[in-house]
Amino acid sequence: MKKIFVTFILLILALVWVTLYAGISRVEPTEKLESKIPHIYEKEDMPIDKISILVYYFIPKDRLDDSINNWKAVTDPHLQDLLKFHEVQFFGTSKISYDFFPQPIVGEKTGAEYETNISEHYGSGEMSSIIEEMTKRVLSEGGDYYDPKDTSGERGRRVYLVVFEGEGAAGSGDFGLISRSYLTLSAYQTFSSTFLAHEFYHTLGLPDNYDESSYVFGDSQQVSMLNLTSKDIMGYVRVPIESTYIERETLQKMGL
Ligand SMILES: [Zn+2]
Repeated sequence: MKKIFVTFILLILALVWVTLYAGISRVEPTEKLESKIPHIYEKEDMPIDKISILVYYFIPKDRLDDSINNWKAVTDPHLQDLLKFHEVQFFGTSKISYDFFPQPIVGEKTGAEYETNISEHYGSGEMSSIIEEMTKRVLSEGGDYYDPKDTSGERGRRVYLVVFEGEGAAGSGDFGLISRSYLTLSAYQTFSSTFLAHEFYHTLGLPDNYDESSYVFGDSQQVSMLNLTSKDIMGYVRVPIESTYIERETLQKMGL
């Protein structure tokens, strides 16, 4: 009888222990992400809780006949895709707004002259002639496209996205550039938003996650090879934007 009694007490104690302690996580709840303010890649003093993109259409002087009138309507859905992607990747800690510069910028040079400076790469040098011209004509007081009433920069960190009537895609400093054809040709439709977002993220300082190297065979035939360091949006762009992401390590270097 005593044995049964002891077993009964032990059973009760076990039940009490299970009720009180089992299943309770001892890990402190993680710090709320919403309270974090992300910043430019590796630059803690440059917050990006609000980003304001100014979108331009840049047409070289000899390409007016190729240019399109509905460039805003064509670009808009891809910007909307970027906003959705960004919201999810940054857990709502960074908000993007955008404006279209009302009229297209007609370049002083020919398409071929700009294209000699444009490559797929990120960094200094590329797209420098377009940036130089836009800085002078659009962003500086006295420039023929300068708008003194533009206040979009007050809505957060301002970056520039240039839809270019020509070849190429690049990012440098506060500027991202994407070929108009990437946004309109059916061959690119599946990846258009990913291309645009990739170039936009360069304006937040994100480096490419691929290396390009070329291999020269004995018969001097050259093959260029893409070596991905991550499969995220800065490494691989030939995927729909819904299927890509930003590398966790990258977000950590942006304060998240
Ligand atoms: Zn890139």
